[in-house]
Amino acid sequence: IRKAVIAGNWKMNKTPAEAKVLLEGIKPLVKDAGCGVVCCVPYVDLPVVLEAAKGTNIGVGAENCHWEKSGAYTGEVSAEMLASMGVQYVIIGHSERRQYFGETDETVNKRVRAALDAGLTVILCVGESLQQREQGITGELVAMQTKIALGGVSKEELSRIIIAYEPIWAIGTGKTATSEQANEVCKTIRDTVAAVYDKSAADALTIQYGGSMKPANAAELLAQPDVDGGLIGGASLKPEDFAAIVKAA
Ligand code: 13P
Repeated sequence: IRKAVIAGNWKMNKTPAEAKVLLEGIKPLVKDAGCGVVCCVPYVDLPVVLEAAKGTNIGVGAENCHWEKSGAYTGEVSAEMLASMGVQYVIIGHSERRQYFGETDETVNKRVRAALDAGLTVILCVGESLQQREQGITGELVAMQTKIALGGVSKEELSRIIIAYEPIWAIGTGKTATSEQANEVCKTIRDTVAAVYDKSAADALTIQYGGSMKPANAAELLAQPDVDGGLIGGASLKPEDFAAIVKAA
């Protein structure tokens, strides 16, 4: 009933020249994918990656966007600017944005709203820190992050939302959530969406797991009933690894 999507998050990696090489490497390896495939790349890489992805099954995304259409916001890029280039996806609320760049649930919500208004599909990130997990508040916290981020989003617009559950303690650490832990929180997110919208909206929602997903653990994570895909950091920079995860979906 819902689509599996494997998305790469290249983070702050690859010059435009390197980005072209990476995308060309990924292209042939994922061309027969049975799931959605997306590469989210740095702003400056978008032109070459969009060009290289033309006519393929690879969707292209940015890693953030601002909530205003234009104006005096030095260093920011609007959702409209991205859409005008042909970008289809945008990551919003990644934990690195929340941790290092002052992103809050409120600014995440504004960015989600702007991205939807511009016609983009949002990959909305939520997830707890190690301290929060140890305090036993993971479920509540992730439910709250989800609710606030989706404020003002209609049921129809949910078809352009993917939620990525990324436990902060599993990002770039080599520590993966167990498949049971991943599924439990993805289910909490789905239940939250069912409570705010309805069951059919929740059943149709693609929910990804992210955090040290790699070929060795992807199949088990993706086999969980509430895990519909992955948001891949480090392994998305290696064509063979990224393609192996796509195959597992
Ligand atoms: P890693 O796959 O490198 O742990 O990163 C996950 C992530 O943050 C994807 O957004």
